[in-house]
Amino acid sequence: MTTQELVAAGLQLPVMEAFYTIQGEGKYTGHPAYFIRLGGCDVGCVWCDVKESWEAEKWPIISIEEIVEGALAYPGRLVVITGGEPLMYNLGPLTQLLKEKGFTINIETSGAHPFSGEFDWVCFSPKKFKKPHPSIYEKANELKVVVFHPSDFDFAETHAALVNSACELRLQPEWSKADRFTSEIIDYVKKHPNWKISLQTHKFMDIP
Ligand code: SF4
Repeated sequence: MTTQELVAAGLQLPVMEAFYTIQGEGKYTGHPAYFIRLGGCDVGCVWCDVKESWEAEKWPIISIEEIVEGALAYPGRLVVITGGEPLMYNLGPLTQLLKEKGFTINIETSGAHPFSGEFDWVCFSPKKFKKPHPSIYEKANELKVVVFHPSDFDFAETHAALVNSACELRLQPEWSKADRFTSEIIDYVKKHPNWKISLQTHKFMDIP
């Protein structure tokens, strides 16, 4: 098989970085986790804080065995697959191997590509810059909307109406606009208690 075919099969993937840290956002805030950041994203968020991830070609193509070996080097057994946009790839083989090794597997995705892989927790963070693929709404365990503009509250409600009934709802101030939006989010959540607040606590801790 060529490298291109191996990537298409999900047996090798472009990895921008992989590191052991504390999950700072969402449901698993505070949990030690091994992050696997896949390269490549075609969503184009203006406020993206990992723009260097966008070009997949910049990053080494690594076999899923080697990726999992990296995760096994640490004592934590929670893995977060993120990006870039990780659903640009077939995540079936990687998640199967991680599961065989006993990992709890989370994904952070904009949902902009068809769903693949088996996860314990799916964090769906839709973006205005590229419409989510319909397959995400049934799979999402958590809807996390980043608030960067006043219209993001309506955007959040539009997606909340589409996700499954068990999906947890969170609003998160975009880091550079946190001064402006945190108080608005607090007021909003107090008035709409089906929502919770997510903060980028790793940024307060100054860790990746
Ligand atoms: Fe950046 Fe994520 Fe948006 Fe892609 S989906 S542009 S990686 S914030």
